[in-house]
Amino acid sequence: MLTVFGSVALDTIRTPTRVVKNALGGAATYAAISASFFERPGLIAVVGNDFPKRYQSLLNRFADTKGVVYANGRTFRYDGSYDLTLTYRTTNRTELNVLKNFKPIVPQEYQKSQFVYLANNDPAQNTRILKEFDRVKFSMCDTIEFWISTKRNDVIKMVGAVDCVVINDEEAKLLTKTHNLIKAARKIMEWGAKYVIIKKAEHGSLLFYDDIVFPSPAFSMENIVDPTGAGDSFAGGMIGYLSSKNSTKLSIIKEASVYGNIMGSFAVEKYGVYGITRLKKSNIRKRFSRYRKMVHF
Ligand code: AMP
Repeated sequence: MLTVFGSVALDTIRTPTRVVKNALGGAATYAAISASFFERPGLIAVVGNDFPKRYQSLLNRFADTKGVVYANGRTFRYDGSYDLTLTYRTTNRTELNVLKNFKPIVPQEYQKSQFVYLANNDPAQNTRILKEFDRVKFSMCDTIEFWISTKRNDVIKMVGAVDCVVINDEEAKLLTKTHNLIKAARKIMEWGAKYVIIKKAEHGSLLFYDDIVFPSPAFSMENIVDPTGAGDSFAGGMIGYLSSKNSTKLSIIKEASVYGNIMGSFAVEKYGVYGITRLKKSNIRKRFSRYRKMVHF
Protein backbone atom coordinates (compact mmCIF):
# COMPACT_ATOMS: atom_id res chain seq x y z
CA MET A 1 0.00 0.00 0.00
CA LEU A 2 1.01 3.59 -0.65
CA THR A 3 0.38 6.62 1.57
CA VAL A 4 0.86 10.26 0.64
CA PHE A 5 1.03 12.93 3.31
CA GLY A 6 1.40 16.68 2.76
CA SER A 7 -0.31 19.91 1.87
CA VAL A 8 -3.73 20.19 0.26
CA ALA A 9 -4.21 23.80 -0.74
CA LEU A 10 -6.23 26.50 -2.36
CA ASP A 11 -3.79 28.15 -4.75
CA THR A 12 -3.64 31.47 -6.54
CA ILE A 13 -1.57 30.98 -9.67
CA ARG A 14 -0.46 34.03 -11.63
CA THR A 15 1.02 33.48 -15.07
CA PRO A 16 1.68 36.29 -17.57
CA THR A 17 -1.58 35.42 -19.34
CA ARG A 18 -3.95 34.39 -16.58
CA VAL A 19 -4.68 34.56 -12.87
CA VAL A 20 -6.47 31.57 -11.34
CA LYS A 21 -7.76 31.95 -7.79
CA ASN A 22 -8.81 29.26 -5.32
CA ALA A 23 -7.51 26.48 -7.55
CA LEU A 24 -7.19 23.05 -5.99
CA GLY A 25 -3.49 22.67 -5.23
CA GLY A 26 -1.06 21.43 -2.63
CA ALA A 27 1.91 19.13 -2.88
CA ALA A 28 0.01 16.07 -1.61
CA THR A 29 -2.86 16.73 -3.99
CA TYR A 30 -0.66 16.66 -7.08
CA ALA A 31 1.37 13.73 -5.77
CA ALA A 32 -1.68 11.62 -4.88
CA ILE A 33 -3.44 12.24 -8.19
CA SER A 34 -0.27 11.45 -10.12
CA ALA A 35 0.44 8.30 -8.08
CA SER A 36 -3.11 7.05 -8.59
CA PHE A 37 -2.38 6.15 -12.22
CA PHE A 38 -0.09 3.44 -10.87
CA GLU A 39 -1.71 2.63 -7.52
CA ARG A 40 -4.52 4.28 -5.59
CA PRO A 41 -2.90 5.98 -2.59
CA GLY A 42 -4.19 6.75 0.87
CA LEU A 43 -4.07 10.50 1.48
CA ILE A 44 -3.35 12.16 4.84
CA ALA A 45 -3.89 15.93 4.98
CA VAL A 46 -5.84 18.69 6.63
CA VAL A 47 -8.25 21.15 5.04
CA GLY A 48 -10.48 23.86 6.46
CA ASN A 49 -14.24 24.25 6.39
CA ASP A 50 -13.90 26.51 3.31
CA PHE A 51 -12.67 23.56 1.22
CA PRO A 52 -15.14 23.23 -1.66
CA LYS A 53 -17.28 20.09 -2.01
CA ARG A 54 -16.29 19.71 -5.67
CA TYR A 55 -12.63 19.44 -4.64
CA GLN A 56 -13.52 16.83 -2.01
CA SER A 57 -15.22 14.77 -4.73
CA LEU A 58 -12.26 15.21 -7.05
CA LEU A 59 -9.83 13.96 -4.39
CA ASN A 60 -12.11 10.98 -3.71
CA ARG A 61 -11.89 9.98 -7.35
CA PHE A 62 -8.13 9.55 -7.13
CA ALA A 63 -7.33 8.62 -3.56
CA ASP A 64 -8.64 7.04 -0.40
CA THR A 65 -9.41 10.11 1.72
CA LYS A 66 -10.00 8.51 5.11
CA GLY A 67 -6.87 10.34 6.25
CA VAL A 68 -8.14 13.80 5.28
CA VAL A 69 -9.11 15.83 8.35
CA TYR A 70 -11.62 18.69 8.16
CA ALA A 71 -10.52 21.27 10.72
CA ASN A 72 -12.16 24.44 11.90
CA GLY A 73 -10.52 27.31 10.02
CA ARG A 74 -9.19 28.19 6.61
CA THR A 75 -7.46 25.80 4.25
CA PHE A 76 -3.73 26.27 3.59
CA ARG A 77 -3.28 28.89 0.85
CA TYR A 78 -0.45 29.53 -1.54
CA ASP A 79 -0.09 32.44 -3.96
CA GLY A 80 2.68 32.42 -6.58
CA SER A 81 3.57 34.35 -9.76
CA TYR A 82 5.55 33.13 -12.74
CA ASP A 83 7.84 35.27 -14.87
CA LEU A 84 7.42 35.70 -18.64
CA THR A 85 9.37 32.52 -19.38
CA LEU A 86 7.25 30.47 -16.92
CA THR A 87 10.52 29.31 -15.39
CA TYR A 88 10.84 31.34 -12.20
CA ARG A 89 8.18 31.48 -9.54
CA THR A 90 7.92 34.12 -6.86
CA THR A 91 5.96 33.29 -3.73
CA ASN A 92 3.63 36.17 -2.92
CA ARG A 93 2.03 34.62 0.12
CA THR A 94 2.02 31.39 2.13
CA GLU A 95 -0.84 31.11 4.62
CA LEU A 96 -0.46 27.99 6.73
CA ASN A 97 -3.89 28.31 8.40
CA VAL A 98 -5.15 24.86 9.50
CA LEU A 99 -1.81 23.31 8.60
CA LYS A 100 -0.04 25.25 11.32
CA ASN A 101 -0.96 23.21 14.37
CA PHE A 102 -2.04 20.06 12.61
CA LYS A 103 -1.30 16.83 14.48
CA PRO A 104 -1.59 14.21 11.78
CA ILE A 105 -2.85 10.73 12.61
CA VAL A 106 -2.25 7.73 10.40
CA PRO A 107 -5.49 5.74 9.94
CA GLN A 108 -4.97 2.16 11.07
CA GLU A 109 -5.26 0.67 7.57
CA TYR A 110 -2.55 2.97 6.28
CA GLN A 111 -0.07 1.96 8.98
CA LYS A 112 1.08 -1.07 7.05
CA SER A 113 2.00 1.01 3.96
CA GLN A 114 5.30 -0.07 2.51
CA PHE A 115 5.65 3.05 0.38
CA VAL A 116 5.28 6.45 2.00
CA TYR A 117 5.61 9.82 0.33
CA LEU A 118 6.04 12.88 2.55
CA ALA A 119 5.14 15.64 0.15
CA ASN A 120 6.22 19.20 0.72
CA ASN A 121 4.94 20.11 4.18
CA ASP A 122 6.11 21.07 7.67
CA PRO A 123 9.30 18.94 8.02
CA ALA A 124 8.77 18.29 11.73
CA GLN A 125 5.27 16.91 11.03
CA ASN A 126 6.72 14.81 8.19
CA THR A 127 9.40 13.24 10.38
CA ARG A 128 6.94 12.56 13.18
CA ILE A 129 4.36 10.87 11.00
CA LEU A 130 6.92 8.56 9.39
CA LYS A 131 7.44 6.87 12.78
CA GLU A 132 3.79 5.78 12.80
CA PHE A 133 4.22 3.36 9.92
CA ASP A 134 5.36 -0.17 10.86
CA ARG A 135 6.52 -1.69 7.59
CA VAL A 136 8.07 1.02 5.46
CA LYS A 137 10.12 -0.35 2.59
CA PHE A 138 10.68 2.97 0.85
CA SER A 139 10.04 6.49 2.08
CA MET A 140 10.58 9.64 0.11
CA CYS A 141 10.24 13.37 0.84
CA ASP A 142 10.40 16.74 -0.87
CA THR A 143 10.82 20.25 0.49
CA ILE A 144 10.67 23.86 -0.62
CA GLU A 145 12.44 27.16 0.03
CA PHE A 146 9.80 28.22 2.61
CA TRP A 147 10.70 25.35 4.96
CA ILE A 148 14.44 25.53 4.28
CA SER A 149 14.42 29.19 5.32
CA THR A 150 12.13 28.78 8.33
CA LYS A 151 12.97 25.28 9.66
CA ARG A 152 16.31 24.21 8.16
CA ASN A 153 17.26 21.93 11.07
CA ASP A 154 13.95 20.10 10.87
CA VAL A 155 14.47 19.70 7.12
CA ILE A 156 17.90 18.14 7.75
CA LYS A 157 16.37 15.74 10.30
CA MET A 158 13.64 14.78 7.82
CA VAL A 159 16.22 14.15 5.09
CA GLY A 160 18.05 11.84 7.49
CA ALA A 161 14.90 9.87 8.23
CA VAL A 162 13.84 8.92 4.67
CA ASP A 163 15.29 6.61 2.02
CA CYS A 164 15.03 9.10 -0.81
CA VAL A 165 14.87 12.87 -1.20
CA VAL A 166 13.40 14.52 -4.28
CA ILE A 167 14.21 18.17 -4.41
CA ASN A 168 14.59 20.80 -7.08
CA ASP A 169 18.03 22.12 -8.03
CA GLU A 170 17.73 25.60 -6.50
CA GLU A 171 16.37 24.19 -3.26
CA ALA A 172 19.10 21.53 -3.08
CA LYS A 173 21.69 24.30 -3.37
CA LEU A 174 19.96 26.45 -0.78
CA LEU A 175 19.61 23.57 1.68
CA THR A 176 23.20 22.35 1.39
CA LYS A 177 24.77 25.79 0.90
CA THR A 178 26.69 24.70 -2.16
CA HIS A 179 26.48 25.62 -5.87
CA ASN A 180 27.36 22.23 -7.28
CA LEU A 181 24.61 19.64 -7.62
CA ILE A 182 26.92 16.65 -7.12
CA LYS A 183 28.24 18.14 -3.88
CA ALA A 184 24.67 18.99 -2.85
CA ALA A 185 23.51 15.41 -3.45
CA ARG A 186 26.51 14.02 -1.58
CA LYS A 187 25.74 16.22 1.42
CA ILE A 188 22.10 15.10 1.48
CA MET A 189 23.32 11.47 1.38
CA GLU A 190 25.70 12.20 4.27
CA TRP A 191 22.69 13.40 6.25
CA GLY A 192 21.12 9.97 5.78
CA ALA A 193 19.12 9.59 2.56
CA LYS A 194 20.31 6.70 0.35
CA TYR A 195 18.94 8.15 -2.87
CA VAL A 196 18.73 11.77 -3.98
CA ILE A 197 16.82 12.94 -6.99
CA ILE A 198 17.45 16.48 -8.09
CA LYS A 199 14.73 17.88 -10.33
CA LYS A 200 15.82 20.40 -12.89
CA ALA A 201 12.43 21.52 -14.24
CA GLU A 202 12.49 21.56 -18.07
CA HIS A 203 15.92 19.87 -17.99
CA GLY A 204 14.77 16.68 -16.29
CA SER A 205 16.35 15.06 -13.26
CA LEU A 206 19.51 13.54 -11.81
CA LEU A 207 19.29 10.43 -9.65
CA PHE A 208 22.17 9.86 -7.23
CA TYR A 209 22.92 6.60 -5.42
CA ASP A 210 26.38 5.78 -4.03
CA ASP A 211 28.70 6.80 -6.85
CA ILE A 212 26.03 6.31 -9.51
CA VAL A 213 24.44 9.22 -11.33
CA PHE A 214 21.45 8.55 -13.58
CA PRO A 215 20.35 11.57 -15.63
CA SER A 216 16.90 11.53 -17.15
CA PRO A 217 15.97 14.35 -19.53
CA ALA A 218 12.55 15.96 -19.34
CA PHE A 219 10.05 15.01 -22.04
CA SER A 220 10.51 17.93 -24.47
CA MET A 221 7.45 20.16 -24.46
CA GLU A 222 6.50 23.01 -26.72
CA ASN A 223 3.44 24.37 -24.96
CA ILE A 224 3.77 24.93 -21.24
CA VAL A 225 0.79 26.58 -19.57
CA ASP A 226 1.37 26.33 -15.81
CA PRO A 227 4.36 24.63 -14.15
CA THR A 228 2.66 24.46 -10.71
CA GLY A 229 2.73 20.96 -9.30
CA ALA A 230 5.16 19.53 -11.85
CA GLY A 231 7.58 18.55 -9.10
CA ASP A 232 4.86 16.96 -6.99
CA SER A 233 3.46 15.11 -9.99
CA PHE A 234 6.99 13.89 -10.67
CA ALA A 235 7.32 12.53 -7.15
CA GLY A 236 3.81 11.04 -7.14
CA GLY A 237 4.45 9.24 -10.42
CA MET A 238 7.72 7.92 -9.07
CA ILE A 239 6.43 6.54 -5.78
CA GLY A 240 3.23 5.27 -7.43
CA TYR A 241 5.28 3.31 -9.94
CA LEU A 242 7.59 1.90 -7.25
CA SER A 243 4.65 0.87 -5.13
CA SER A 244 2.90 -0.78 -8.08
CA LYS A 245 6.07 -2.82 -8.71
CA ASN A 246 6.57 -3.37 -4.98
CA SER A 247 10.26 -3.01 -5.61
CA THR A 248 13.17 -0.82 -4.60
CA LYS A 249 15.70 -2.28 -7.04
CA LEU A 250 17.92 0.40 -8.54
CA SER A 251 16.77 -0.47 -12.09
CA ILE A 252 13.14 0.06 -11.02
CA ILE A 253 14.03 3.31 -9.23
CA LYS A 254 15.61 4.51 -12.49
CA GLU A 255 12.45 3.62 -14.42
CA ALA A 256 10.40 5.35 -11.73
CA SER A 257 12.38 8.56 -12.25
CA VAL A 258 11.51 8.39 -15.95
CA TYR A 259 7.82 8.01 -15.04
CA GLY A 260 8.35 11.01 -12.79
CA ASN A 261 9.48 13.08 -15.75
CA ILE A 262 6.55 11.85 -17.82
CA MET A 263 4.00 12.78 -15.14
CA GLY A 264 5.65 16.20 -14.68
CA SER A 265 5.32 16.82 -18.41
CA PHE A 266 1.55 16.23 -18.27
CA ALA A 267 1.15 18.49 -15.24
CA VAL A 268 2.48 21.59 -17.04
CA GLU A 269 0.12 21.31 -20.00
CA LYS A 270 -2.94 22.74 -18.21
CA TYR A 271 -3.67 25.07 -15.29
CA GLY A 272 -3.71 23.57 -11.81
CA VAL A 273 -4.38 19.87 -11.46
CA TYR A 274 -6.19 19.56 -14.79
CA GLY A 275 -3.07 18.45 -16.67
CA ILE A 276 -3.17 15.19 -14.72
CA THR A 277 -6.82 14.72 -13.76
CA ARG A 278 -7.96 14.24 -17.35
CA LEU A 279 -5.31 11.67 -18.21
CA LYS A 280 -5.83 8.05 -19.17
CA LYS A 281 -3.32 5.30 -18.47
CA SER A 282 -2.90 4.88 -22.22
CA ASN A 283 -1.68 8.52 -22.51
CA ILE A 284 1.05 7.72 -19.99
CA ARG A 285 2.04 4.47 -21.73
CA LYS A 286 2.26 6.24 -25.11
CA ARG A 287 4.37 9.08 -23.79
CA PHE A 288 6.64 6.61 -22.00
CA SER A 289 7.36 4.76 -25.27
CA ARG A 290 7.91 8.02 -27.15
CA TYR A 291 10.33 9.01 -24.40
CA ARG A 292 12.15 5.68 -24.74
CA LYS A 293 12.60 6.28 -28.48
CA MET A 294 13.64 9.87 -27.83
CA VAL A 295 16.54 8.96 -25.52
CA HIS A 296 17.71 5.82 -27.38
CA PHE A 297 20.99 6.00 -29.31
P1 AMP B 1 5.50 22.57 -7.12
O1 AMP B 1 5.13 23.46 -8.26
O2 AMP B 1 5.69 21.14 -7.51
O3 AMP B 1 6.63 23.12 -6.31
O4 AMP B 1 4.26 22.54 -6.09
C1 AMP B 1 3.38 23.59 -5.93
C2 AMP B 1 2.37 23.24 -4.85
O5 AMP B 1 3.02 23.25 -3.58
C3 AMP B 1 1.26 24.25 -4.80
O6 AMP B 1 0.04 23.64 -5.19
C4 AMP B 1 1.24 24.75 -3.36
O7 AMP B 1 -0.04 24.71 -2.79
C5 AMP B 1 2.18 23.84 -2.61
N1 AMP B 1 3.03 24.60 -1.67
C6 AMP B 1 3.60 25.82 -1.88
N2 AMP B 1 4.30 26.22 -0.79
C7 AMP B 1 4.18 25.24 0.14
C8 AMP B 1 4.67 25.06 1.47
N3 AMP B 1 5.43 25.97 2.09
N4 AMP B 1 4.36 23.90 2.12
C9 AMP B 1 3.61 22.98 1.52
N5 AMP B 1 3.11 23.10 0.28
C10 AMP B 1 3.37 24.20 -0.42
